[in-house]
Amino acid sequence: MRDQPAAPLVSASGLQKSYGALKVLKGIDLTMKPGERLVVIGPSGGGKSTLLRVMMGLETINGGSVTLAGKPYIRAGATPARTVIDIAVRRSIGMVFQHYTLFPHLNVMQNLILAPCKVRGEKKAKASERAAALLSRFGLGEKLAAYPSQLSGGQKQRVAIARALMLDPKLMLFDEVTSALDPELVGEVEQVILQLAKQDMPMMIVTHDMWFAKNIASRVLFCAGGVIVEDGPPEQVLGSPKEERTRDFIDRVF
Ligand code: ADP
Ligand code: MG
Repeated sequence: MRDQPAAPLVSASGLQKSYGALKVLKGIDLTMKPGERLVVIGPSGGGKSTLLRVMMGLETINGGSVTLAGKPYIRAGATPARTVIDIAVRRSIGMVFQHYTLFPHLNVMQNLILAPCKVRGEKKAKASERAAALLSRFGLGEKLAAYPSQLSGGQKQRVAIARALMLDPKLMLFDEVTSALDPELVGEVEQVILQLAKQDMPMMIVTHDMWFAKNIASRVLFCAGGVIVEDGPPEQVLGSPKEERTRDFIDRVF
């Protein structure tokens, strides 16, 4: 028997999303194999954040569907995460945003263990142990009792990433997670994401940081005007893009 190609981890087809009359995603098809790291680049307003939000199940869509590991969990017309299965699949995706979304009234440890204890019914002692290990791996071992307001932007983003990992995601989505940081704090957050890449965590990353894009991507998508204009290996899309629109963007931004 011949080897079968690896089943896709993610398969999105015909994704359409409008806000009123504004068509933001115009029929996006996308498949992702296990272990792939997709960097999404493109002009502001091109639909990158919307695409990630749709994948996360945070938006209703006007057309298309998405499956994760063969399980459909997003479909047109349905309210986000309507069924029990949709919710379960969605919980196996972690997302980190540009602006810190930590719970301000909870300390770092409490931020990390809330979902595992509430959602999965994990024992507090067990969750705390996992949280402490993760935080120390991310250089935050001293910050377990700190509140978000006592942390730097870079520390907050590392906590946000650790918190997402507490639910053992099959896929991580990062939307410009370093864009709001002072330049000297960007590296520490990117290093944490690079650590995850070494462990073959599948991810989709929106970034404007060329160094990071080159170092983390196994594939690069150029997304503009609600479509994927170009999709290929980083050397090609970043180094010698085929499409004029991609070339213009890369010359201007990077
Ligand atoms: P990008 O992340 O590539 O900058 P976005 O996905 O944020 O692009 O936005 C794509 C388009 O959708 C933009 O024109 C933006 O103004 C519009 N948009 C995004 N979110 C909303 C919303 N909640 N309501 C109305 N329009 C929106
Ligand atoms: Mg965006």
